Amino acid sequence: MKRCLFKLVLFLVLGAIVNVAVAWGFAAWSAPANVESPEFTSRKIAEDEIEGVTRLRVFGHTRVHHGMFSQLIVDGTMGHVLATAWIVPGDNYSETRAGWPLRTLRCRNLAEIDMGGRMSITISANTANPIEGGIVLSPFPTGSPAQSWRALPYQPIWTGVVVNTILYAPLVWILTVSFLKMRRVIRRKRGLCVKCAYDLRGDFSAGCPECGWRRAEKDAQQTG
Ligand SMILES: [Zn+2]
Repeated sequence: MKRCLFKLVLFLVLGAIVNVAVAWGFAAWSAPANVESPEFTSRKIAEDEIEGVTRLRVFGHTRVHHGMFSQLIVDGTMGHVLATAWIVPGDNYSETRAGWPLRTLRCRNLAEIDMGGRMSITISANTANPIEGGIVLSPFPTGSPAQSWRALPYQPIWTGVVVNTILYAPLVWILTVSFLKMRRVIRRKRGLCVKCAYDLRGDFSAGCPECGWRRAEKDAQQTG
């Protein structure tokens, strides 16, 4: 029972590690900036306050640009914000959400943003390190489009953390069991002890003098 619980916890931890590794892989290598037609939604909050959200989705990685505007003219067919968009101080950020199948980690780029023709966000000069909740991977020179920033996020999105970990844990378990089984088969074929790989020259009848595999009744019970 205790052993079972230990195994469960171990594989959940391993599943969580795989989950983070997958998310970081997507955050570092996938490029949501290249999405041709981003999703755009806008919502009027007050007379001179409009919230605009753009989502650029690729496999395993979503980039969300959130901006507050005083005026916003949107090209309905393309979903792009035209040049006549004035950003106002407020909840302005570019956020990365990475992970698969669900997004599991996120971080925000809090640089001052300036939404232009294709919802491109320009990094302002006066922000040294605007990343919140992430490790910066690529620097952002002044004037570079914000889509190109890269960071390894470490803020959890809990639904993704739980669901992905539960999905990855049995996967890690299956791989581990398959590996151990395969190693056993290979060792047996080579005439080695299946437990410690000591060379038995193909004679398994006497057990293993090195590790005691199949040697004594007691040992046999222990290794089960
Ligand atoms: Zn052995």
